[in-house]
Amino acid sequence: MDDFNSETDSDYTSYWRDWFISSRGNEYFCEIDEEYLTDRFNLTGLNTEVQYYQYALDLVTDVFDFDCDDEMREMIEKSARHLYGLVHARYIVTTRGLAKMLDKFKKSDFGKCPRVMCDSQPLLPMGQSDIANTSSVKLYCARCEDLYNPKSSRHAIVDGAYFGTSFHNILFQVYPAMLPAKSQRRYEPRVFGFRMHAGAALARWQGEQREVMKERLKKAGIETGFEDEDEELESEMEDEEMEIGDGFEPGQPGGMVDSQALLHGRW
Ligand SMILES: [Zn+2]
Repeated sequence: MDDFNSETDSDYTSYWRDWFISSRGNEYFCEIDEEYLTDRFNLTGLNTEVQYYQYALDLVTDVFDFDCDDEMREMIEKSARHLYGLVHARYIVTTRGLAKMLDKFKKSDFGKCPRVMCDSQPLLPMGQSDIANTSSVKLYCARCEDLYNPKSSRHAIVDGAYFGTSFHNILFQVYPAMLPAKSQRRYEPRVFGFRMHAGAALARWQGEQREVMKERLKKAGIETGFEDEDEELESEMEDEEMEIGDGFEPGQPGGMVDSQALLHGRW
């Protein structure tokens, strides 16, 4: 390890981290710089969270030199993976970490939104808690602003705390150009081509509320974030409807309605 160069980790082969990020199931992780890992300040407090902390850190930084049996080695290995994850959550909100995750986002390494109206919007990994062992990693779509379970079962067991609750929001704050326009298109339930009356009435009411909200935001000088109005949307509203079930009374929302949900045309 004498020739290790912290300036450019590209010409330094990190054996353990290379192995880790190229392992199946670890596709969401980016490689943490040697420099970041060896700065003790960045690891503050983790020694109490990770068993065999020093050995685990030695393993992650490729300076592991400890003769132990397989069982012990396996435990240290497990700790090393946990340590890497916890440091990863801190690293990906740094300038360097954000840039690496942005590259992966652009390549759709985290998958694409399964919602048809989101047009294959790339997703970002996120955690619902910053505390380890609380919940597994979820995927965030910035277009519909919703969360999804990873498709593959090998990702469903990755801890969400290894990405954290803030990373995906920080990424869009730092790179606002990456924020996609909100889609106004929605699925409309139809029966034999006829729009269902209840659903159509509700959709129309929501559409009107959204327009009111957009107008208010515009007056307040706030960017709505919506894509340009689709002209088809207006004409489709004039379509015939079919009475099925109890009609929704426009203007009678029946209780509180979340303004954000309304703005995006969802409940
Ligand atoms: Zn989406």
